[in-house]
Order: sequence, then C-alpha cells, then structure tokens
Amino acid sequence: MTALLQSTAQINILVVDDTLDNLRLLGKILESQRYTVLKSLNGRMALQAAHRNPPDLILIDINMPEMSGYEVCQQLKASETTANIPVIFISALDQVNDKVRAFEMGGQDYITKPFQELEVIARVQNQLLIQQQKRQLRQEIETRKQAESEAQQLNKILENLNANLERQVQTQTHLQQQLETANRNLQRLASIDGLTQIANRRCFDEYLDQEHRRMKRSQFCAPGANPVSLSLILCDIDYFKLYNDTYGHQAGDLCLQQVAQTLSNVVNRPMDLVARYGGEEFVILLPETDAFGAVYIAEQICTQVRALAIPHLHSLQGYVTISAGVATVNPCIEAQIAKLISMADQALYQAKQEGRDRFRTHIEKEEITSLIDRSRFEAIATLTQSQEESS
Ligand SMILES: [Mg+2]
Repeated sequence: MTALLQSTAQINILVVDDTLDNLRLLGKILESQRYTVLKSLNGRMALQAAHRNPPDLILIDINMPEMSGYEVCQQLKASETTANIPVIFISALDQVNDKVRAFEMGGQDYITKPFQELEVIARVQNQLLIQQQKRQLRQEIETRKQAESEAQQLNKILENLNANLERQVQTQTHLQQQLETANRNLQRLASIDGLTQIANRRCFDEYLDQEHRRMKRSQFCAPGANPVSLSLILCDIDYFKLYNDTYGHQAGDLCLQQVAQTLSNVVNRPMDLVARYGGEEFVILLPETDAFGAVYIAEQICTQVRALAIPHLHSLQGYVTISAGVATVNPCIEAQIAKLISMADQALYQAKQEGRDRFRTHIEKEEITSLIDRSRFEAIATLTQSQEESS
C-alpha cells in the first residue's frame, strides 16, 4: 500500500485537538511512521495553518470548546484551497449519530478514542492512498483533456489547410480553364482569315504538311499498295482588281466573303480544307482524292460562283466568275508533293490564258499510271473536254 505513496517525510498531517495529551499521542504514532506532523490546539489556528500551508491530511477532534470539529470541517470544505484535503474525525463519542454527522460534514473517516495505534496508522494510510489515487486520476483527466484539446486544435489546423488547398486547386483549375480558352481562341484566330472566316494561308500550309505526312505513314504508301492521290485546286476571282476599282473595296470584301462561303459549301468532307491563299486567291486541299474527284469539285465551284450572279461590269459574262487550276499527285512521291502548288498554279495560268471562268488540270504521269481503273481516267478526259467545249 505504501509503495504508491510519496516518501512519508514529505507528507504533512495536521492534527487538531484541544487536549494536549491527545495531540502528543497522535503526534508520536504518526511520527513513528515518519510523517511530518503539525499540531493545533483549536479550530481557528488549524484553519489558519491549513490555509497557509495546506496539509495532505487533517485529523480533527470533534469536541473542542471554541469551534467544534464539525465547524472546522465545514469551513475547510467551503474554501477552495482546503476543500480537497481529506478529514478524519477523532472522538470519544462512539455513537452512530456522531459518525453519520461526521460524514455529512464532509469527513472521510472516523477514529474513536482511545486510539488503537495500528488502526490510526491504517486509517491514515488508507486516506493518503485514496488522496494519492484521486490526484493521479485528476492528473490523468487533465492530461487527457489537454491531449483532446491539442487534437482538436490540430484538426482545426488541418481543416483550414484542407480548405486553403481546395481553394488553391479551384483557383488553379479556373485559371487553367481560362488559359485553355484563351489558347483555343488564339489558335483559332491564328488559323482563321479575319475577312472571310475560312482557314488562312498559315493554316493551309500546316494542314498540307500534316496531311502529306499522314498519307505517307498510311497503308496507301506501303510497298506494293495502290497509292491514293492527293489533289489541290488553286482558284482566283477573275478581274478582281477591276471589280474593286469599279465597286469599291467594301463591295470587294463582300464579294470575297460570298465566294469563300460558296467554296466552303461545295467542299463537304471533314478532311478537305478551303483556305484563303492570299488576295483574291483561294486554295482547296482534297486528301485521298484522285483527279476525277478533284475535277468534279473544280467544276462545282466554277458553277456555284457563276450562280451567285454578282454583277461585274468588266467581266466577259457580266457577273463574277473564277478560274481554277487542279493538280493531282501521288503523296508517296516526295518530288510530286513539292511541285503540287506550282502544278496547280500552271493549270490556273492556263485557265486564265484560255479565257477565264474555267478550270484546267495538271496531272503528273505517275498519278495517271497509278490509276488502276482506266475508265475513271477516261471519265476525267470526257469531263475536261466537255468543259472546254462549253467555254
Ligand atoms: Mg476534545
């Protein structure tokens, strides 16, 4: 039992009794156990001593002249400084009522006179042990409370950090989205012709390069495979300078917009591209399209622009027309790709020379030989011939 207690010399016990002999006897018993004993002959002095230096345990005689043990105990329990000090009552009265009252007053135990030394020691040790255990319990509760409060604070810090992080992520996501939108707009602006709203020259150059590389990678260019052709139509508005001079630049812009729209309407496949090549020149790239297909498109665009019937005093027909040059190459042959635009340009020049409002074709020999279906080649010849006759 004593193992749990602190060294007994450090334990102060206050003994209060108006009979000096009793004080001496109790003092002797307790001192034999090496407790530090303080003695008071009356309640008033005892209260002063207890407040000045609160002891670990108080033994109080019930019957004292000035202030009874009960009163002393009451006052001890009423003060915060001394309320927790255990009190053992001492009395010769061995009446049940006294004992009951002693406990009602807040006493922890009761010793009757004459003292039995072993009983006194046992009861004192018992109270000290209970007191020690209470202290430990209080400390444990305190430690636990502190740990809980620290955990709560940590939780709060974590919650704040999480909230901050979430806000940062949201801001970053928002900024990222804005950046992506801005980039998309920039990219669109960089590839669109402002006036006609079709692809610009830069976009065409990139697309030609991209399509050429794609077709080269594809199965069409595999050894032994039948290659698929790549066609291009270069066209421009006939007598456009005269149109501008006659009708003004605003009308000229409108004319360019209408022609661009018409070309876009004729060309329907997603892989095809209509672009403004410069000034009144337009270009149409037709991947995986042979001369036959390209000639069909060329004829369509000439017809559709004619059908717009935009008045043009200085044109032979009296309305706006276009001339076009068609070139078809084998995309698997590097040298032909390099010549694609100049071939179309030559064909366009020929169309102009021959009176405008028409298209001419320039087909490389290798492209013709690669056309497996002879009848398709003949169909192209017929189409071209009929167009020559009509113009
Ligand atoms: Mg007495």
